[in-house]
Amino acid sequence: MQMSQYFNRPVHVAIALLCFAPQPGVAGILQLADMTSEEYRNLQHDRTVVLMPLGVIEEHGPYLPMLTDSYIGEWLVDRVAAAIDERDGWSVVIMPSLPIGAGAPEDFAPRARKFGSLPLRPETKRAVLMDLVSGLGDAGFRWIFAVDIHGPYLNKRMTDQVASYFDDIYGGTMVNLTGVVHPGPVAKSRPYSERDAQEDGLAIHAGLGETSWMLHVRPDLVRSDHVTASAVTIKRWREYEAAAKGDNWPGYFGTPRLASVAAGDDQMSAWASNVADLAVKIIDGLNPAQLEHVAAGRNPALRRLDRFISERAALMREQQAQWLERNEID
Ligand SMILES: [Zn+2]
Repeated sequence: MQMSQYFNRPVHVAIALLCFAPQPGVAGILQLADMTSEEYRNLQHDRTVVLMPLGVIEEHGPYLPMLTDSYIGEWLVDRVAAAIDERDGWSVVIMPSLPIGAGAPEDFAPRARKFGSLPLRPETKRAVLMDLVSGLGDAGFRWIFAVDIHGPYLNKRMTDQVASYFDDIYGGTMVNLTGVVHPGPVAKSRPYSERDAQEDGLAIHAGLGETSWMLHVRPDLVRSDHVTASAVTIKRWREYEAAAKGDNWPGYFGTPRLASVAAGDDQMSAWASNVADLAVKIIDGLNPAQLEHVAAGRNPALRRLDRFISERAALMREQQAQWLERNEID
């Protein structure tokens, strides 16, 4: 039996009318960018989760695009949205992706600014997000999940602080799903050898892992000559600074050469399961205050990176303040 037998003419007319009739309750997975203000007002705000993909404009070496973190975050957000949408009575609004991260790989070697990353000062990022979540809170939203994967502790701390602000002022629940440790689903296997892992070393930026993730998320944007990339193997945390200082540093750590679609598929699907599982558990009652924050980590290289990010932020703040003062602008 074909479906078309069910869709007789009166039904078609009724469906067409429904599409144009004012909708009292808007539901499902919605893109904020595409909604009208009326649809926005008609949401059941306290049963709608706002998903906020947060990224950064940041160099990722010669093989990956500047917006890599944003693309990965957006991809994860779509998986989280699908998981929440399956829960009865919940809707999802996805915010436009915001590339407003703080800190960049150039900060591993202070004052080396040759790659062109465009990070914000941490306080600028916090202020932008505080304004946005205030608007969402005033509109009646009580649930916000950010997906902010950009690495520096300081970057994640800003998002965590905004979450605390939103919770305090609006009695809501805001969590950076990738800023807390959720011991949920993890990758089943590591589809590369121990030898490859050794060569990739402590690759926290644009190495085997991140290049593989992008082969899953946006393979069209991974430059094919990554297969010829020479290794920048970091064995100890303190080696980042020396590596990044060198004139020949290509802007990544590790071995993009060893990236594979198999590793990307495996790790991205595990990551998506982890954050989607966490999101659903939180709306089902898990208290996020129990979760350990990534930004509270004690990795010495990342703590040092935070210090250099703060120093550069102070220089930017000073330059801007002096110009404003000289021009008598409040
Ligand atoms: Zn990245």
